[in-house]
Amino acid sequence: MPFHFFNTLGRTMQVFEPLETGKVGFYGCGPTVYNYAHIGNLRAYVLHDIIVRSLRRAGYEVNHVMNITDVGHLSGDNDDGEDKMVKSAAERGKSVLEIAAMYTDAFFKDTDTMNILRPTVVCKATDHIPDMIALIQRIEHNGYTYSAGGNLYFDISKTPNYGELALLRMEDLQAGARTEVDSNKRNPHDFVLWFTKSKFENQALVWDSPWGRGYPGWHIECSAMSMRYLGEQFDIHAGGIDHIPIHHTNEIAQSEAATGKKPWVKYWLHNEFLVLDREKMSKSAGGFLTLQKLVDNGYHPLDYRYFLLGGHYRSQMNFSWDSLDGAKNSRKSLMDKIRTLVEKAQSSSRSPIPNLDAFNKALEDDLNTPRALAELWGLLRDSTIEPTDALAAAFDMDEVLGLGLRAFCETEKLPEDDAERQEIENIIAKRAEAKTAKDFASADKLRQGLKERGIVLEDRPDGTIWRKIQ
Ligand code: AMP
Ligand code: ZN
Repeated sequence: MPFHFFNTLGRTMQVFEPLETGKVGFYGCGPTVYNYAHIGNLRAYVLHDIIVRSLRRAGYEVNHVMNITDVGHLSGDNDDGEDKMVKSAAERGKSVLEIAAMYTDAFFKDTDTMNILRPTVVCKATDHIPDMIALIQRIEHNGYTYSAGGNLYFDISKTPNYGELALLRMEDLQAGARTEVDSNKRNPHDFVLWFTKSKFENQALVWDSPWGRGYPGWHIECSAMSMRYLGEQFDIHAGGIDHIPIHHTNEIAQSEAATGKKPWVKYWLHNEFLVLDREKMSKSAGGFLTLQKLVDNGYHPLDYRYFLLGGHYRSQMNFSWDSLDGAKNSRKSLMDKIRTLVEKAQSSSRSPIPNLDAFNKALEDDLNTPRALAELWGLLRDSTIEPTDALAAAFDMDEVLGLGLRAFCETEKLPEDDAERQEIENIIAKRAEAKTAKDFASADKLRQGLKERGIVLEDRPDGTIWRKIQ
């Protein structure tokens, strides 16, 4: 069965047929690096990871591009509010670039520990200003822009299909239902492509452009960078549902205005929100949960990954400590089961390995991870399957689930005592933190301390694994 995805563009389940056989161009909106990612954001990146892993396991060559927003994102997605980066830098007494570097590192530390594969290309907005300017020039040349108050705006009245993704109706948009603070706009849904004489006198990073010295609007970066690395048309674009009505709607409008080619992107996948006590979690609102907070409370980042896999990406999930406990216990049982299989496994294996059709079908059916997880459990509970074969199949499934089963099995002589294991993992997490803070002396001390207890560490791209050698 081919993959089927629920395409937000059209709101239907569609058979996945990439533009080029065997290859997939995939762009996922990356973080705005003005703060730590909250666990809601990480839900979006787990979806991106499942897309990539599922397609790769099925044999596709996936080119995964992710941007890092380090300029231009205002606190309101609709060109209102303050610049998130500038505000965060001022609050922390650092430069915008320092803030960006610090939170980009923190972001990848989080995603690495959750076994989220690094994208093929990670691109920073500030490194791609010329691409953005060139794209805006094409949009301007095609007659979709106007200047007002020193800024260059995109004129949505020139694109009859504006709002198709979000099912917005042009008549409603013209009525100007939204309260708009920018009086330069002809239509409240018009958006800024380039700011020059903006309301932000304290803008830290500015560049020369045909429209004057200034900086890009937020939406243009995703169009410019995705086209730079994936071409003018590509297969999949993903992000959270909050991006449907403004960010992604505007990305489509400006991209198709520049190229004249439709559709710009074939399949749009959007993850539902993770909510906390039924409220949306948001970075700008302040009180939000980070992955570190979960670790501080005794959970492994993979407990949170397991929790997320238990919900379909298009269903809203409510976070609670109780449900995270449930995920933690299930993951522990999973690892116990794997350990038992390792102990029982014979060196030789029957072939072929168990049939994974149902597992594959679950993924092909719009990436149904809860069903895929249930299939893994079904396999592990099936006593008619040889342990060696069950293990091989579990490893194969884990290519997508990303629960680190193979690395776990390579960790020989696990301490029997759970408390000791937890303590070692805490030390490893502290060492990773020290390394991020460039405090290598402390990091080495922690490693040495473990070594003296007979525990050796090995740093890998997907995290640190450890082993007891005595
Ligand atoms: P940001 O760094 O704010 O640009 O957001 C990064 C990603 O997280 C985007 O794809 C958002 O749509 C997504 N996102 C933001 N809040 C949540 C949430 N509470 N649950 C799930 N995804 C979210
Ligand atoms: Zn984007």
